Amino acid sequence: MEYTVTERFLKYVQLDTQADPLSGTFPSSEKQKDLTKVLCEELKSMGIEYTTNDAGYIYATLPSNMDKDCPKIFFCAHLDTAPDCSGTNVKPILHTDYKGQDIILPDDPNLVISSAQFPNLKDKIGHDIITASGLTLLGSDDKSGVAIIMDALHQLVHNNTIPHGTVKALFTTDEEIGKGVAKVDLQLLDADFGYTLDSGDLGCFEDENFSANALKLTIHGVSAHPGYAKGTMENAIKIASEIVASLPKLTLCPEMTDKKDGFIHPTSIQGGLESATVDFILRDFETGKLDEYAGLISEIAEVVLKSYPNSSYNIEVKVQYRNMKDILNKHPMVSELALKAMKNVGISPVYGSIRGGTDGAVLSHMGLPCPNVFAGEQAIHSKYEWVSVQDMQKGVDTVLEICKLASAM
Ligand SMILES: [Zn+2]
Repeated sequence: MEYTVTERFLKYVQLDTQADPLSGTFPSSEKQKDLTKVLCEELKSMGIEYTTNDAGYIYATLPSNMDKDCPKIFFCAHLDTAPDCSGTNVKPILHTDYKGQDIILPDDPNLVISSAQFPNLKDKIGHDIITASGLTLLGSDDKSGVAIIMDALHQLVHNNTIPHGTVKALFTTDEEIGKGVAKVDLQLLDADFGYTLDSGDLGCFEDENFSANALKLTIHGVSAHPGYAKGTMENAIKIASEIVASLPKLTLCPEMTDKKDGFIHPTSIQGGLESATVDFILRDFETGKLDEYAGLISEIAEVVLKSYPNSSYNIEVKVQYRNMKDILNKHPMVSELALKAMKNVGISPVYGSIRGGTDGAVLSHMGLPCPNVFAGEQAIHSKYEWVSVQDMQKGVDTVLEICKLASAM
């Protein structure tokens, strides 16, 4: 069957669905629902039942074509694009039959997508590459995922030779501002497990991500009139600065770590003479390490405060999100199914770890195991963003193969 992923993708990226981190509403920007509307129309024309909510989510259900019970699986992608780079008036450009040349973006010829900068472009010779025009991001994150899921549904509807159980699609809003599944209703979703389609290059697969805590350190100093402060003043600003300056510099910080290493990262500092606060984020793949990091901040504070006998500190820790591996380890079949599906359609899986959070991690910890499968996204959140048509088509093949394999379970 002919793929429809490219036409869908080119249509979706032209809708501005940028999330707004400063808004308190759901969705954070009303324009995200423009894509909700388009997808609902497409689902309706395929004869697929769906419901939506006020936040612009879509829950779609394709009934099983099997006469036995098999797992209900869902595929999830987010409709919003990142606030880091303009998403207004995206003009997608299809560069057919890529020959390895530098791709100059016409609306800003200073912007060049080259294989020197993006070495995996060398693997895409002969592919059709889609880029933006130089003024905006492309929105491949995550409209590639949306288009892949929609094409897969289209194929399942029109080709009844593909065996499948109940297949669900979940489209969410505001993923880019960390609220992607805040309004999800698990009863409505009614699935056993699923996959987010929101990873990078062909074959990329992630079933682990950071565990994350936020930590607020508050210093209580001693104020005094600066003209008469001798022997009494203990300046909270100086105490907070000393603590920050005593953090490890060669390890445990974002600028010195990668792969599986975690970090302690001060994100803001504010205050005055009498009190000061430092906000930190703590990250590690091993959830237990987060307590060690909080302990280290405490130890440093204790040492610094030895020189300030009348001052004190307190620490507040908030759980942000957790490594999905903690859950997926209990359901190894979920990852195995995706990896087997990729191999069956001729893709070598590339294992990765997400140095951040994902909707799938939150869903996993809500009880729905949900690793992350490639959607072909490259150079995301930037004007250099690009995607290969053939990679998206392989994404469709992978989704269909997952459905097929799950129907035999
Ligand atoms: Zn994404």
